[in-house]
Amino acid sequence: MTFAATILTLYPDMFPGPLGMSLAGRALAEGRWSLDARNIRDFATDRHRTVDDTPSGGGAGMVLRADVLAAAIDSVATGAPLIAMTPRGTPLTQARVRDLASGPGVTVLCGRFEGFDERIFEARGIEEVSIGDYILSGGEMGALVLLDACIRLLPGVMGAPSSGDDESFESGLLEYPHYTRPNEWEGRTIPEVLRSGDHARIAAWRKLMAETETRLRRPDLWERHEGVRVKPPSGARRQTKDA
Ligand code: SAH
Repeated sequence: MTFAATILTLYPDMFPGPLGMSLAGRALAEGRWSLDARNIRDFATDRHRTVDDTPSGGGAGMVLRADVLAAAIDSVATGAPLIAMTPRGTPLTQARVRDLASGPGVTVLCGRFEGFDERIFEARGIEEVSIGDYILSGGEMGALVLLDACIRLLPGVMGAPSSGDDESFESGLLEYPHYTRPNEWEGRTIPEVLRSGDHARIAAWRKLMAETETRLRRPDLWERHEGVRVKPPSGARRQTKDA
């Protein structure tokens, strides 16, 4: 099945952009995913092809018009989930990416200027997604990030089918560190255990490293991971300090 990506943007020429190269580019050529980048401006109805207007109540910048956005959205008939890129949206996670990648595709609405007329979200049942706590100049980069993360999970895209399994976030932990030859470089050597050929010892070392890296670098992830591990059986009351 082909994963159908539809992008609604004022800059369709930004697609496939970097997704035309490497793994994603090959997968696109092979028909594992399809791309349809539509220009929101094509759905404007006036002579000047206006897509935005000044913010009601005043203030700087311009706001994308709900009627023009709706016409663009309504032109898409894939039935795939509809996502708008917004900084206030739900932060994108590997779990959501995996979910999307197993579906029919995704339609991504890319904002520009100050963003979207608020009424569009409820009127079209749009899911809002953020790629992080910083502000981009437009949603296109976010759409590329979202698509890249999905495409590498599609069947046949990554070289070895198992190569995604150990990846950071897949297990709720960061990944263990990697090394490759030469064995000695600038006086630094590869940890002895990795050259021992003892697969059980290697697996134990990797697990320990993944846990240590997560605890030190991402206490938030570690806490969640530990929370899942020590979760009481469902129905049982959770012990709290002040209980
Ligand atoms: N005025 C808005 C920012 C607009 S930035 C605010 O303060 O929230 C212009 C567009 O870039 C947005 O409409 C959105 O589509 C995109 N964008 C900016 N930052 C983003 C982020 N962190 N994640 C996803 N999309 C983002």
